[in-house]
Amino acid sequence: MLAAVVHDFSKPLSVEEVVIPDPLVNQARVKIETSGLCHTDIHAAHGDWPVKPKLPFIPGHEGVGIVESVGKGVKTVKEGDRVAIPWLGYACGHCEYCASGWETLCENQLNTGYAIDGGFAEYANAYADYVAKVPKGVDPMDAAPLTCAGVTTYKAVKVSGARPSDLVAIFGIGGLGHLALQYAKIAGAAVVAVDLFEEKLSLAKELGADYTVNARTQDPVEEIKKLGGADQAICVAVAPKAFEQAYHSLRRGGKIVFVALPKDNDVKLPIFETVLNGISVIGSIVGTRVDLKEVFELHADGKTRVIHEKRHLHDVNEAFKEVEEGKAKARLVFEL
Ligand code: NAD
Ligand code: ZN
Ligand code: ZN
Repeated sequence: MLAAVVHDFSKPLSVEEVVIPDPLVNQARVKIETSGLCHTDIHAAHGDWPVKPKLPFIPGHEGVGIVESVGKGVKTVKEGDRVAIPWLGYACGHCEYCASGWETLCENQLNTGYAIDGGFAEYANAYADYVAKVPKGVDPMDAAPLTCAGVTTYKAVKVSGARPSDLVAIFGIGGLGHLALQYAKIAGAAVVAVDLFEEKLSLAKELGADYTVNARTQDPVEEIKKLGGADQAICVAVAPKAFEQAYHSLRRGGKIVFVALPKDNDVKLPIFETVLNGISVIGSIVGTRVDLKEVFELHADGKTRVIHEKRHLHDVNEAFKEVEEGKAKARLVFEL
């Protein structure tokens, strides 16, 4: 099968022929139709984070395709089902986190496109209990970005507690941000979208943002304070500076949700103001299988729009560059 493989954190990916592996016990073999390119795949391929993937590996955690065969023990999917393979590729199912609806915090989890080979390939093997069935009527090209960008921002909006009458600031209108703003609107809030590129801000407007701020030419803190300050700020921009601006744009009692994972791992936040202003700082990692099911339901009901542009897997390195330079409109998806 054709696959994009990371052999070295400092070299481009290699698009090569790889032997199709047999599914393990409890796994299904999925013939991938499409796979979205998340900025996380770029961090993974560069070895940006404290915990690095074991080389070589195949990235991709927004793979969507058709189950071709199943390994021993598989009960939840069958041949012919269309499924999505998310970042949470496996969790133990028994620990306190798994049992209390926080499987995304399971200490025994395995992540797709990191610890398990992912969707940047013609086939991927996935633990059947952790794939999501893609409902009929949801285009696979839309399902792919929803599998990480969608579920992650849906969850981030949920934990932010955004409700009608709130002002939500979304920092970064990329793959994640273009969906984050739609979930904040669905929650009934007003939205201010912040990015460095005018194209991203026009897209944000088109998708329902009430206000936009270009952080290259305007001071987002000042602009958001003029609107009364944000009740919630969701940071999906790959830059610590954006986290600091998002923090300072909050009104008293506000909440900031950390979602992006820039290589530079430190932000500077003041203790005094956090205490006196009653600010909450929340980290949010992807979403559960139930969150993803809800994301697909909302999309099937016509409540969200996924903006995607197609690329060929052969152009994976050029696609990485487009995303890193902020040139992709929202989400790039590989057609396989
Ligand atoms: P992306 O590259 O598509 O989007 C990032 C956006 O931020 C771009 O539009 C860019 O122009 C904008 N941006 C960059 N610097 C900015 C700044 N200083 N101010 C305002 N905007 C700025 O990336 P993505 O796929 O949406 O992923 C975003 C981040 O979220 C990545 O770090 C990724 O690893 C992380 N992520 C986290 C989770 C999670 O569960 N927490 C899940 C998926 C992705
Ligand atoms: Zn992702
Ligand atoms: Zn567990």
